[in-house]
Amino acid sequence: MNCIFCSIVEGKIPAKIVYQDTEVIAFHDVSPKAPTHLLVIPREHIDSLNGAKAENETLLGHILHVCSQVAKNLGLAESGYRVVTNTGAGAGQSVFHIHFHLLGGRTLGWPPG
Ligand code: AMP
Repeated sequence: MNCIFCSIVEGKIPAKIVYQDTEVIAFHDVSPKAPTHLLVIPREHIDSLNGAKAENETLLGHILHVCSQVAKNLGLAESGYRVVTNTGAGAGQSVFHIHFHLLGGRTLGWPPG
C-alpha cells in the first residue's frame, strides 16, 4: 500500500511533527490554509471516517483530545480553531489515511466553501 501518511508514521518521509504518542502524530500541513494548519492522524491506517469501526471509538476520541491540547499549547484556545475531517473525494479528501485538520490563527468563515 502506497500511503503518504503511513510513510510519515514510519519516518520514511519528513514532517514537522509537533506532537506524537503511541497512537497519534500531529504535524504541520505542507500546504497550510490558515496561519496554523496541522494534521492529526492515527498511526493505524484507516481510510476515512467511512472506514472507522466501533473498535476505533477510543482512538477517535483521543484524536479530538489531542487536537484540543495541541491547540491550547499553540495559544489557539481563546482565539478559536476548527477541527475538520474531509470524508470522501466529494468532500475534498485527497489523502485516504484519516486525518483531522486543525486550523486557526485567523477568523475562520462559516460555512466552509
Ligand atoms: P485532505 O484534502 O482533506 O485529504 O487533506 C490532505 C492534506 O494533506 C492537504 O491539506 C495536504 O496539503 C496535506 N499533505 C499532503 N501531503 C503532505 C505531506 N507530505 N506533509 C504534510 N501535509 C501533507
